[in-house]
Amino acid sequence: MDGMTAAYLDDAIAAGGTGNAEAVRALEERLGALVGAAYTLCVSSGTTALISALYAVGVRPGARVGVSALGPSMTGLAVTALGARPVFIDCSPGSFGLAAQSLGEATGEGPLAAVVPVPMWGYWDEDPQVLADLRQRGIPVVVDAAQAPLLRLEPQGLADTADVICLSLHGRKPVKAGEGGACLTRSEALADRILAVRNFGQLAAFHGTRVEPTGPFGSRFGSNFKINGVGAAWCLSQLDDPGILRARHARLRTAARRAFDTTGITWHEAPHSPDVVEHGGYGLVALCGTPEDAARMAHRLTADGVEVDTLRYTYAPMHTSACFSADGARTPAADALTALAVACRLEAFPLPSAVGG
Ligand SMILES: *Cc1c(COP(=O)(O)O)cnc(C)c1O
Repeated sequence: MDGMTAAYLDDAIAAGGTGNAEAVRALEERLGALVGAAYTLCVSSGTTALISALYAVGVRPGARVGVSALGPSMTGLAVTALGARPVFIDCSPGSFGLAAQSLGEATGEGPLAAVVPVPMWGYWDEDPQVLADLRQRGIPVVVDAAQAPLLRLEPQGLADTADVICLSLHGRKPVKAGEGGACLTRSEALADRILAVRNFGQLAAFHGTRVEPTGPFGSRFGSNFKINGVGAAWCLSQLDDPGILRARHARLRTAARRAFDTTGITWHEAPHSPDVVEHGGYGLVALCGTPEDAARMAHRLTADGVEVDTLRYTYAPMHTSACFSADGARTPAADALTALAVACRLEAFPLPSAVGG
């Protein structure tokens, strides 16, 4: 542990390790700068970030929420935690982006209270026109960027198109607090509502670019979704120099590509949209020619000691999870993509020694 990290941890422990620790405010500032959002609120997990964001944009029991079919069950479970129902949106063929047609069908069957794109493994491939249409129709967009904390878009940043960006700071994600998450938004009104959900329904006041709790607990609906200050302090130390973090992930991506190539099986990388100037940072997804090739590639990588998610968890569309399968959803493009995909966390590829992180 370096001196800086130790100092952050000491401060957080001295403050009782609660979510009111100074480290949390500092972490919110750094995450805001990293993602490019005016307001950042740290919470206790990526899941509570989604719950807080969805509640803040108006999702209530009985509502329908469009969710990327390629997201993990955690995304859908955040919707069901609010008593709302996930409606699975199919992807564009061969892409992690939402298909306009599937979204059109979902809105045709009834109003959507929000739509949740998920840049899985860090791949952002949303059609700007689809996002513009949602905006025009007043449908809030909550991006589950749990796997894309390093994503950078130009000329329009993600915070310019999303109502809320949700991060996970889980220990297996690129930026780690152990357990933790964050909501980022450019909307003062949404930041205010997210703070209330996080802080037992407290009223908030704006100081500069920050929302600060002011009134008594229970002024509005809320719970305790605060981050542990000790985890926040550790996480803060990882963001001392975001350049180092970004460079490390670029090296990991190179190492991962090489490992995929050495299997000798033909593959191409999942696409991302032209406005992506930096990948989200979580994983590498190889799309093979046939499901048999994908299975062979996964076996080779596993034999080489690489943790491959297709084998460990069988990456599959969300509606195949037992808790959602009763819906009878059909997402043929998502089924086809996952059948050809070999997906792996970048951190499964060890870097040559002496590379910190
Ligand atoms: C990890 C993850 C979550 C859940 O985050 P937690 O911090 O574990 O609650 C949600 N969505 C996606 C896409 C994730 O990868």
